[in-house]
Amino acid sequence: MLNRAVRVVTATGFIVSTVSPFAFHASRAAPKGRVATRRLQSTTEGSEQTGTTTSSFETTLSPTSEGNPRRGPSPVLVLEGDTLDTLPKHVGLVVGLWALSGAALAPCIEAATTAAGALGLIQVFAATLLFSDFFSGLFHWASDNYGNKNTPVFGGVIEAFQGHHVNPWTITYRGFFNNVHKIALSAIPLLGVAMLASPDPGWRLFWVVFVNAQMLSQEFHKLSHTIKPPSWAAWLQSKGLIIGRRAHGQHHNSPFEAHYCILTGWCNPALDRSGVWRRAEALVYRLNGQEPNCWKDDPDLKRKALGL
Ligand SMILES: [Zn+2]
Ligand SMILES: [Zn+2]
Repeated sequence: MLNRAVRVVTATGFIVSTVSPFAFHASRAAPKGRVATRRLQSTTEGSEQTGTTTSSFETTLSPTSEGNPRRGPSPVLVLEGDTLDTLPKHVGLVVGLWALSGAALAPCIEAATTAAGALGLIQVFAATLLFSDFFSGLFHWASDNYGNKNTPVFGGVIEAFQGHHVNPWTITYRGFFNNVHKIALSAIPLLGVAMLASPDPGWRLFWVVFVNAQMLSQEFHKLSHTIKPPSWAAWLQSKGLIIGRRAHGQHHNSPFEAHYCILTGWCNPALDRSGVWRRAEALVYRLNGQEPNCWKDDPDLKRKALGL
């Protein structure tokens, strides 16, 4: 069962990675200096930002921030049609994903009635949680570094990720359903296809945990920016079970080149120490000459990456 669990996670991880925005964004040219320029420009109520967004994150955490002491300065929306209100469609998408997840898990109920089956599902659950944290980092790394708002399909997501560096407090103004509904929108068809592909309990559990973890990573990310998160979230953060304020704060430091994982953050130390992001950037650069945004912010990173 363990081997099957590992095979399920590995095979699915490969499939997901090959359709991830990594490959797609790699071929898109970001306007030179765009991110750095945005970070230097004043974008909030006429106040001038510093050269890095270290100050932005500190402002997010500042209990003396104007307006709402839990959240920070006034929110800034950069996407056309974006809203901070929670709309019925936001709730519908998330509840729809949960309903589909419940249906997808039906084969797991019978599998869990034996000790071996239950143990296998626990292993799948744990492995998927770890993989989901890694994938949250992979997606974040790709969105931060490649493409722009004009990139087809992923342009909105890319704009949201890159704009978040400039106005990190805005996310804290979103309610749960507003914050995660876009991921639910992508997850529903993905889970639907996975359900049609196989009734295997391990396969079904992987996909249910994976898509829900990606959705929750957006909420945990928000909570890591929230000055006074709910007590349950503060407890989970203190135990290292979800990404915490200090851990994610290390990402909000120009050139935004590390600490990309935002579900639990468990993968960050190994990924950052191993230099995997620099190696991936060097690979993309050698393939198509595309430089990531973090190299544009810190040219020394290019030298390091190409020297690995
Ligand atoms: Zn980022
Ligand atoms: Zn953040």
